[in-house]
Amino acid sequence: MHKNRVRPGSPGLRFNVAQLMKEGTGAVRNYEVEADLAKDFDDEDLEVVAPLTGQVRFLRTGPHILATGVLETKIQKSCGRCLTSFTGPVRLELEEEFFPTLDVITGTVITQPLEVEAANLIDEQHMLDLSEVVRQELLVESDELLYCRPDCKGLCPHCGQDLNVGSCNCQDEVVDPRWANLQALRDD
Ligand SMILES: [Zn+2]
Ligand SMILES: [Zn+2]
Repeated sequence: MHKNRVRPGSPGLRFNVAQLMKEGTGAVRNYEVEADLAKDFDDEDLEVVAPLTGQVRFLRTGPHILATGVLETKIQKSCGRCLTSFTGPVRLELEEEFFPTLDVITGTVITQPLEVEAANLIDEQHMLDLSEVVRQELLVESDELLYCRPDCKGLCPHCGQDLNVGSCNCQDEVVDPRWANLQALRDD
């Protein structure tokens, strides 16, 4: 059995593909996306602070639908160096296959192999929901948003002063040689 999706999806990422599933290989649908993920995704690991916008294309490929598209939004994070909260842009390039669970013509149940993720199943109402694949991609992108800016100077390890704002008196102290390597790593 496929695991049930526990997280709520986004109405802006659900598409009825019944008509597309009745057409042959090569049939295409294009959609503009505008989804309010800040409201729809209740996820403590992911703070989306702008609407998700972009285009998606659904291509009928044999028994599947190939969803491709480029989507953009903004995520709020805490800087790994200076700890201030910042907002970074993210751009997702989607390329995901979706699989039917019901034959649109006959109404017969189609059992997909277990290796097909629940997130990639088209439901019994022929709704293709991009929510979970988008959420997973956003989590990956969020992990790569590390610093408020590439040259963030961070906090002084001695007194905690935000070195982007100003220097502190610890600056001139000789760095303990045991820390020098760590410092070099940190500065990379
Ligand atoms: Zn920073
Ligand atoms: Zn200091």
